[in-house]
Amino acid sequence: MPRKLMEKRLAIASHNQGKIKEIKAILEGLDLQILTAAELGLPEPIEDGHTYLENALIKARACALASGLPSLADDSGIEVMALNGGPGLDTAPYTKEIGGRERVFSLWASLPEIKANPDARFVCVQVLAWPDGHYEHFLGTVSGKLSFPPRGDDGHGYDPVFIPDGFSKTVAELKLVEKNHCSHRFLALQKVIEACL
Ligand code: IMP
Repeated sequence: MPRKLMEKRLAIASHNQGKIKEIKAILEGLDLQILTAAELGLPEPIEDGHTYLENALIKARACALASGLPSLADDSGIEVMALNGGPGLDTAPYTKEIGGRERVFSLWASLPEIKANPDARFVCVQVLAWPDGHYEHFLGTVSGKLSFPPRGDDGHGYDPVFIPDGFSKTVAELKLVEKNHCSHRFLALQKVIEACL
């Protein structure tokens, strides 16, 4: 049986404002006081895990220990089939290495293998960790296609180049409320809500 959150306070172990905005909107109405690692002045731990789960655990545990609060961490990435599932877990460092997402968009738009097969998916693992070391984890994925040039002003990260299956717009062209009913993050958080909140 998953552990239930008895407290009415929760920390979000993230400094990523795009993720924080989405997570807060999904948890809205649950009567929780939500603080973020950024608001608590906590440093960002080094994400040197080998899986989404390991990285999410690193973030959730560091935040739970430092804040004394149950902490929710999100580790996510985009997996491009023509790149053998990359950058995946390494999406954030890969983006930095290439010189920012606009550069990645240009690079990917020019690759014949992506033109031939634009299939991709977003993956998200949510970990809810307690200060005593206990944790629960949940996975959400959403499949779709890469699309160039980038379109849309809403959203963050790779939202402007990703069209989820069943949609004709990029995620950045969807309203937040629409993204928050189909995204990898929403699907993982729905499981957190059902099991623990
Ligand atoms: P991390 O979870 O902090 O390791 O970073 C994951 C990276 O994947 C983000 O910085 C984004 O570039 C990308 N990413 C994760 N989720 C999303 C999303 O919902 N939309 C667009 N990009 C995302």
